[in-house]
Amino acid sequence: MSRSVVVTGGAKGIGRALVARFLADGDRVIALGRDERALDRLRGELHSGVAGTLRTAVCDVTDEAAVAATFEQAGPLDVLVVNAGVSAAAPLARTTLADWEQQLAVNATGAFLCTRAALPAMRKRDRGAIVTVASTAGVVGAPYTAAYTASKHAAVGLMRAVAAELAGSGVRANAVCPTFVETPMTERSVAAIVAATGRSEEESSAALASSSPLGRLLDPHEVADAVAFLASDAARSINGQTLILDGGGIQS
Ligand code: NAD
Repeated sequence: MSRSVVVTGGAKGIGRALVARFLADGDRVIALGRDERALDRLRGELHSGVAGTLRTAVCDVTDEAAVAATFEQAGPLDVLVVNAGVSAAAPLARTTLADWEQQLAVNATGAFLCTRAALPAMRKRDRGAIVTVASTAGVVGAPYTAAYTASKHAAVGLMRAVAAELAGSGVRANAVCPTFVETPMTERSVAAIVAATGRSEEESSAALASSSPLGRLLDPHEVADAVAFLASDAARSINGQTLILDGGGIQS
């Protein structure tokens, strides 16, 4: 049965793979993003030859009023994927307040605003799935990622508290926690390593790839597969869990 699905940060990277996946599954997908031109491109690229239907809307997930209006217009959802996110790396001593606030605003407050906006209609119909795209940084700390790690721990904490509120209902909340994924975000991380260390792009990319036992970057479609599972009825007994995608480095 066709589901109503919202993907935040849906125009690029993992979000784009998520949109493609839900469209292939025949769902009615609404991709949210900040950049109207990127959303236009997404519609052009993904609209034809798929089973589902695609709409897009401009929505900054840190804007409380915009989130409320966008979710009101979207109507009741079967699936919300909290995916929009930002990252920046720096040692704690060089982490600015602006860096800290931006990552908390998008990764934590944005997750809160979108989850809060989607939940009442799900509760009313007693069905729905919320899947947060967190990170391995949502479950363990890594150097030079204080703001990102704090924001992703907050997103995982939010998901767990919501799952506890939902326990026993037909609505579920879970998270996926991927290691580095081949997306524009990781391209920016590689460029930052090149700039900071003088290493080549290949060496910098290999350093990120070797940070997990996978020894490679994840494909965004692997993240989409895990999200699609947690959003599906096949995961109907799973609530409040983190699914870690790193080849077995972190076990919980
Ligand atoms: P990306 O930068 O390629 O895409 C992120 C998307 O989020 C973009 O479309 C961007 O416009 C959107 N976005 C950012 N701020 C926003 C805001 N305020 N409102 C609305 N949209 C906003 O990144 P990605 O790698 O595809 O990351 C997607 C999610 O996966 C993020 O939450 C990220 O933290 C997480 N993640 C990424 C990796 C990785 O290695 N790339 C690993 C683990 C988790």
